[in-house]
Amino acid sequence: MRHMPHSKKPAESSDLVRFCPLGGFEEIGRNCVFFEHKNEIVMVDVGIQFPEEETPGIDYIIPNTSYLEPKKKNIKGIILTHGHYDHIHAIPYLIEKLGNPIIYTAALTKALVEKRMEEFPNLPKLKFHVVKNGDKVTISDHFQAEFFDIGHTIPDGVGFILTTPVGRMVHFGDFRIDRDKHGNALHTEAFEQLGKLDIHTAFIDSTSADVEGKAISEETVEKNLEDMFKNSEGRVVVATFASLLTRIAAIFKIADKIGKKVAINGRSMKNNVQIAKALGYIKNPKGLEISVEEINKHPDNKVIILTTGGQGELQILNPSIVVEQGIVIYPASPVQYQYINPAFPNSLLVPAAYIVKIGQTSALTAGAATVYAEIWAA
Ligand SMILES: [Zn+2]
Repeated sequence: MRHMPHSKKPAESSDLVRFCPLGGFEEIGRNCVFFEHKNEIVMVDVGIQFPEEETPGIDYIIPNTSYLEPKKKNIKGIILTHGHYDHIHAIPYLIEKLGNPIIYTAALTKALVEKRMEEFPNLPKLKFHVVKNGDKVTISDHFQAEFFDIGHTIPDGVGFILTTPVGRMVHFGDFRIDRDKHGNALHTEAFEQLGKLDIHTAFIDSTSADVEGKAISEETVEKNLEDMFKNSEGRVVVATFASLLTRIAAIFKIADKIGKKVAINGRSMKNNVQIAKALGYIKNPKGLEISVEEINKHPDNKVIILTTGGQGELQILNPSIVVEQGIVIYPASPVQYQYINPAFPNSLLVPAAYIVKIGQTSALTAGAATVYAEIWAA
């Protein structure tokens, strides 16, 4: 037997806490991880992955939970960090296989999951435990979680400290650090607090975390959008993911400020706006929203159309929406660029004066539209 004088005696396997990602590591989407100790498992996020070039004909990809299914009675809880689809949308497909454990999450995320579940009436009712900043919950004999707020492109994102038999783990979910216009980081209190704790392992990951540079402030992004909206002589179409509710709230705010109306197109966009309004994350004055059918009653330069279709699939737009003098803005993350047929702008139903494709990282979480936008004259 090989003698290793300086190595510590390996821990008994019964003392171990296992951490295992089932998706979402070094890839965008399908976020799902779990912690396991003895006969207790805590899962974090159950998301989908959008299809890629190599997966034609696939609607989306879900995490492979075959290790967990025979152990479903051990799954003591699922923590959902926030309501983006790549963190919650595989719930309907997997929740029964996972034994329908309690879901710990914040109010908006719960509402978004429940809305989605309406499409699956045969599934058992989900069990939620709603959490907010500062809440501590005992999930099982060996796992306790304490939640803290994190900033992201959707409200109600949470990170958590998981107390385990080997130490405290911190998981941040997705997050971004916003900055003021001088570039100073805002809301770093949670990081300072965590720095004072004896943390065993910090799990820190976020979309584009490996891209060098700083995110440009939300204030700057909003200013860029405001300028674009103001300068458009025709209708403006903004296509985005229906779950980017922080950005959607900003679009309403800007429209109100510059005296334009907003028409919402697309079922998921309508649903999500309704949920965010019910929870107070979007507060629209009366008359700001109009229906798509009403857009012809308003001058073109007074109308913004907010639509799903963030991957460029603007064919879903109602053909009556013509934007001859206006602009079409849609975000596309680097992952999604590859779907976009270079000939796509010509096949649009919208003969816009300009089509602006904005890298998701640059426009939605970070930079100015001008940095990465590609503008085609249509
Ligand atoms: Zn996210």
